[in-house]
Amino acid sequence: MSGRRYPGPAVDLPLDGWLYEAKPHEGCERCAELMRQLGAAKERGDANARFEAARAVRNCRHGVERQ
Ligand SMILES: [Zn+2]
Repeated sequence: MSGRRYPGPAVDLPLDGWLYEAKPHEGCERCAELMRQLGAAKERGDANARFEAARAVRNCRHGVERQ
């Protein structure tokens, strides 16, 4: 999990707020986990991880594939 860096833009880019926006779906375990990651990334100032987590929440299917 840690120590791995992804090539990419500097973390200090003035990204638009919506890039960090995430609307977790209530009751979705994946969203909950992603929001924990997002919070942790925010704590350590990791904008890249924050963005990735927010994007993952936006892309989350909220368990619709669960059978
Ligand atoms: Zn979800």
